[in-house]
Amino acid sequence: MVSNLFMLYLGSMSYYIAVDVGGTQIRVASYQAEKLEPLRLIRRRTHSRENTPEETLKQAIKDAWPESKPVKAIGIASPGPIDLAAGTIIKAPNIPQWSHFPAVDFLEREFKVPVYLDNDANLAALGEWRYGAGKGHHDIVYITVSTGIGGGVIINDRLLHGVRGLAAELGHVTVDPNGPQCSCGQYGHLEAFSSGTAIARRAHERIQQGVNTELSKVAHPTARDVAEAAEKGDRLAMELLEDAGKHLGRAFADFLHIFNPSILILGGGVTLSGRYILEPIRNALSRYTMSPEYLEDLVITLAQLGDEPGLVGARVMAESATIG
Ligand SMILES: [Zn+2]
Repeated sequence: MVSNLFMLYLGSMSYYIAVDVGGTQIRVASYQAEKLEPLRLIRRRTHSRENTPEETLKQAIKDAWPESKPVKAIGIASPGPIDLAAGTIIKAPNIPQWSHFPAVDFLEREFKVPVYLDNDANLAALGEWRYGAGKGHHDIVYITVSTGIGGGVIINDRLLHGVRGLAAELGHVTVDPNGPQCSCGQYGHLEAFSSGTAIARRAHERIQQGVNTELSKVAHPTARDVAEAAEKGDRLAMELLEDAGKHLGRAFADFLHIFNPSILILGGGVTLSGRYILEPIRNALSRYTMSPEYLEDLVITLAQLGDEPGLVGARVMAESATIG
């Protein structure tokens, strides 16, 4: 008992750094163990005239570092696929300089503490599991639908990585091989049908075809414009969201068959489009799931961690990797 209390005391003296690297912004936060609120939160533009992205990253970590406090580890959320074994970011969308960037080596050399790296959607899933919508669940499928579509899967309280850390690319499942080209270069992936980018592109195509819609008043309608137009009863906008939702729901039915989670957590801006996208998701799920048992106690809910799920997840990763 005494030793447990002692461990608890030592644990609360630990500090962690969490990093979320984005194409436009690098965010770094320092945390004290067991405390949810960051001590410091630093935001820097990823691209600047003065510095390379890695210099900016290093400086932002220094700025967030709690003075004369023992930092136990750094966790990093990468925007693109990573090589888990090598500790490298294979590629980061919008950071072309980072092709096979050895992020773990680079930061361990500089800061002399263990560095842990994972993909941002995986870490968002981990963050939701520990502090968000997934609390208390052991088997989770998390999908984020924004510019692209990402996913993270937790099975029996552990993130699913696969042999190289490339598992759970849930946006890159083939919905229709004759479909449009995906950001990854393949054709007909879910992301090419239902991401914010895909919704905006389809809106543009339909406007070009002369469809009568509120959206033709906007120069370059985004997925958010589509959601707002749907709220006002615009037929094309409703149709676009229904279509995106149908494809999502059909893919989710496959995810249920593969992972059998107790909760599906939906993150990202597009899922905030409300009933116009959530209802088709639910309808497609019940239509395409092969037996009702998959749906019986399934919770379908929106993510709770707002704008910082990757950052929270990076912190959970750093913390859980160094416990004990
Ligand atoms: Zn793809």
